[in-house]
Amino acid sequence: MKIIDLIQPAKKTLFSFELLPPLKGQNADKLYETIDELIEYKPKYINLTTHRDEIEYRTLDNGLLEKKIVRKRPGTVAIAAAIQYKYGIPVVPHVVCGGFTREETENMLIDLNFLGIENVLALRGDGLKSENFFVPENNGHSHANELVEQIVNLREGKYLDPELKNKTTMDFCVGVAGYPEKHAEASNPETDLLYLKQKVDAGADYIVTQMFFDNRKYYDFVERCRAIGITVPIIPGIKPLALMNQITILPKIFSIDIPEEFAAEVRKCKTNDEARQVGTEWAIYQAKDLIANKVPCLHIYTYGITDNTRQIAKIIL
Ligand code: FAD
Repeated sequence: MKIIDLIQPAKKTLFSFELLPPLKGQNADKLYETIDELIEYKPKYINLTTHRDEIEYRTLDNGLLEKKIVRKRPGTVAIAAAIQYKYGIPVVPHVVCGGFTREETENMLIDLNFLGIENVLALRGDGLKSENFFVPENNGHSHANELVEQIVNLREGKYLDPELKNKTTMDFCVGVAGYPEKHAEASNPETDLLYLKQKVDAGADYIVTQMFFDNRKYYDFVERCRAIGITVPIIPGIKPLALMNQITILPKIFSIDIPEEFAAEVRKCKTNDEARQVGTEWAIYQAKDLIANKVPCLHIYTYGITDNTRQIAKIIL
């Protein structure tokens, strides 16, 4: 089932969550445990992240450094299909530009189509840690709008090779990312929004937001999107704070603000358990307000932690 067909007719706010594929070397048991703990709250779909290759330098016995290319979390396509079949819930694997050529992306989409996956979230991905900015692969995409275009072209059977014969069409429902507090690299909020509109105009069906801790930022973002003609559903992304140090780490990584009222409560905490409880209460406060304002779906960034997600999901049921 396509996410857009789940969201649009829904009379009440839906619940979805995001997971990471297992680290290389691990099996999928932990992932299934996470889903088992959340399934009773009737998630309508599950997102699964994709992680590009990374470069690591390892010190050899002779003291020299060895450069290694590692993919720490492989297997998104296979795990996405395994989850979808095990639980009968649509899975939305993320497709990223970074680290992938257009051909590799096309082949991934073909695999997903064979496996019965109908939804993807199209993203640019971040630059490598060793690079100051995003560098596309040779023959890869520079921005998510180009990726959306590639995916949407398949709805009309437009593959990369125009000489391909007997082409089948692939009709993926496509989500894209939006940033209520502006993407870190964007020159200003207005430009960022114009690029978001470009992704929607390329054929994206809906938007999922970066996490935010102040709902006013989301409402303002939706209003600004509507003002420039973005009409697709905008799903808010919520992250329950889980550790004390996230109060400073999250703003740095995601270029977001933590409201002082919330930060002050976290500063009073003496342990991570206390901070986690305060974080959960804040996420519940945000969720209640978003539901009251009839958002289409609440998308929870779980990072594999279920106790706080369960408490939030309870209020949606
Ligand atoms: P884009 O839409 O390409 O935007 C990136 C920047 O370029 C922005 O500043 C934008 O204003 C600008 N821009 C956009 N289009 C153009 C253009 N045509 N010309 C010039 N400038 C342009 N990362 C992963 O690696 N794996 C994941 O699984 C993953 N999942 C995510 C899920 C969600 C819901 C979100 C919000 C983010 C996720 N990310 C993931 C992180 C994401 O890849 C980064 O935030 C990345 O830096 C930007 O991705 P994007 O798709 O928004 O890029």
